[in-house]
Amino acid sequence: MEFSSKLLENAVNEMSQLPGIGKRTALRLVLHMLKQPESRTQLLATALLKMRTEVKFCKSCHNISDVELCEICSNKNRVSHTICVVEDVRDVMAIENTSSFKGIYHVLGGKISPMDGIGPHDLKIESLVQKVKQGDVKEIIFALSSTMEGDTTNFYIYKQIQEYNIVTSTIARGISVGDELEYADEITLGRSIVNRIPFESSLKS
Ligand SMILES: [Zn+2]
Repeated sequence: MEFSSKLLENAVNEMSQLPGIGKRTALRLVLHMLKQPESRTQLLATALLKMRTEVKFCKSCHNISDVELCEICSNKNRVSHTICVVEDVRDVMAIENTSSFKGIYHVLGGKISPMDGIGPHDLKIESLVQKVKQGDVKEIIFALSSTMEGDTTNFYIYKQIQEYNIVTSTIARGISVGDELEYADEITLGRSIVNRIPFESSLKS
């Protein structure tokens, strides 16, 4: 791509670092910004920078939050002894949209994936095991996507907490195989949480 301006080229290069944004799309977005009032770009840049520098992760569930303890963890009406284990904030949003879950979450920050060099210690697994050890947990619900990495992660955590005699369950399978939770429709996802099955029986299938 030949650019008539170094400034334009820099902007396109930075924009195209984002996932799913190729050079052509980046160019289209940048040219769009040039047509808009300068204030639009300023608002965008400020919002991004503010988000990046000020965002926090809940000290208990590791969900993205504006405060130390997120709104879900600090809500007295939530059932704090039921913990739904998810990969990232998108899953929390998807499950919250169903209004079918009254417990709290634990956000791992990914899945175990040796291919991508992600091991158990790269994820927030230890803090989950600690919660179980402290005896504050009655049930763990695994709600990772039904991929090999999701299954591996579920099983790894299951082995760590097995001896503490808590209920472990998994959201019903067959609805989002290979898909991310965020793509499951709300009714199906809500139902699969309500009708969750014992984790042990998911292992036999
Ligand atoms: Zn939290």
